[in-house]
Amino acid sequence: LLKASGVLMQFGGLKALNNVDLVVKRGSIHGLIGPNGSGKSTMMNVLTGIYQPTQGTVAFAGRMVNGRTSSDIALSGIARTFQNVQLFGEMTALQNVLVGLHHSFRSNLLDIALHLPRYLREDREQRARAHALLDFVGLGELASEEARNLPYGKQRLLEIARALALDPQLLLLDEPAAGLTAPDIKELLEIIRKIRDAGVTVILIEHHMDVVMSLCDRVSVLDFGQKIAEGLPAEVQANEKVIEAYLGGQAS
Ligand code: ATP
Ligand code: MG
Repeated sequence: LLKASGVLMQFGGLKALNNVDLVVKRGSIHGLIGPNGSGKSTMMNVLTGIYQPTQGTVAFAGRMVNGRTSSDIALSGIARTFQNVQLFGEMTALQNVLVGLHHSFRSNLLDIALHLPRYLREDREQRARAHALLDFVGLGELASEEARNLPYGKQRLLEIARALALDPQLLLLDEPAAGLTAPDIKELLEIIRKIRDAGVTVILIEHHMDVVMSLCDRVSVLDFGQKIAEGLPAEVQANEKVIEAYLGGQAS
């Protein structure tokens, strides 16, 4: 479904990504792990068109991603969540999902913001779909709560529901379990499995190794912008280079 080849992302003298290849199979959950600062979020930003890579190509569903705007890429089927939750705090959970639905036919968030009253006057079908998405992530009861008043774990789930409103083929999750309690993580695991079972391919950036182990079909490991290992979760976990990279990170 996704193929990145030779991706170089340079910020001044820093190679945040250095010649990274990534192939993600349709229907899989692909883990992207590595120590802090290894380039994981940068990769996600390249895949979603937020950054244009200095070199290299990204193809999604047979089309090139390079050179396209991030909203065009989103509309073509790549949705994402952010490492730091990005919701519209004063809007309700339902409205946040409706923004995602609008985004699927409107070109940008600024446009949505400018025409907010019109966007919020929604037809029945869209509201029903938004409610269904909230139910899907277990937030059905909280539809009319303001996003900022939701517990952190629920905010993360709401962000996922909003991403799903784009009806993506590929969903990128940037550390969805970060800051969550154990019961929240368990719920999140179930939801990610349901997303995969619904036919959505997932790329999962995650520091919780137990989450990676139990969910991922395949895992790629970045260290200082380079891919140092890839394979089945158990293979990667036992890989010497990977163990060393993580120990190095802890020492510094
Ligand atoms: P973490 O686990 O802490 O989230 P990460 O693997 O997601 O780390 P990135 O956020 O991708 O790491 O950052 C990789 C490197 O690129 C870091 O050294 C970071 O400081 C640098 N970097 C990322 N974005 C930019 C930017 N816009 N300008 C300059 N440097 C950047
Ligand atoms: Mg990151």
